[in-house]
Amino acid sequence: MRRRISNKVFCSFCFFCLFAIIMYAAVFVLRAPALLAAGPPAVVAVDPGHGGYDDGIVYNNRDGKQVKEKNVDLEIAKALISDLQAQGAVAFATRRVDEYMNISRRAQAAQAKSPNIFLSIHLSATGSFNIYVTNMPQAQGDPKQLYLYSKRQRPFIGKSRDLASALELSVKQAFPNVNVSYMELPLPLLDEMGAPAVLIECPGPAYLDYTDPSVSGRIAQAVAGAVMVFNAKP
Ligand SMILES: [Zn+2]
Repeated sequence: MRRRISNKVFCSFCFFCLFAIIMYAAVFVLRAPALLAAGPPAVVAVDPGHGGYDDGIVYNNRDGKQVKEKNVDLEIAKALISDLQAQGAVAFATRRVDEYMNISRRAQAAQAKSPNIFLSIHLSATGSFNIYVTNMPQAQGDPKQLYLYSKRQRPFIGKSRDLASALELSVKQAFPNVNVSYMELPLPLLDEMGAPAVLIECPGPAYLDYTDPSVSGRIAQAVAGAVMVFNAKP
């Protein structure tokens, strides 16, 4: 009798162990490709443009409300940071309140946490998304060009272009009726970044109604999606 009871206990213990081993193996096999593809986490510096006395674009909408670019940039940046954090990235802002920051303070605030991605958020005077990467002329002995050659952005310019392409694709998918342009211009803030760096101008307040908070949310979602896709690539 005693033996029968102990066999029963032994058998149900075995069954439990086997079940646990099978479940553990299944979870490991299913999650392994995702774990391998995850790579290092994205550390994203988000830079809301303007601030303080620098309003950026100011627009009076039909309801008589004044929309200031500095506030919209900050709203998009905050939504973007929370989207990125929800997806496992480390994300932080160069400015979190309505204050003026010059280029060197912005660059310092961004570099303080050694980001591997830098995004500056602005609004456009047009109805388009404009995506910018700084331009890097080849050094040819001209002192001005040699100066540019020494900029921190130089080794990351290829990756900055890849990030811009990911953003272009994601924004086009999220806003199929909005034009998206890509340009390379001398941009001193991006020159200072020792990481892939892009400036994105979202459609101006005359073209998108930023008094509706879901608009900033949609932009943030599209940008966050592009950042995660870019970061997952080797
Ligand atoms: Zn701006």
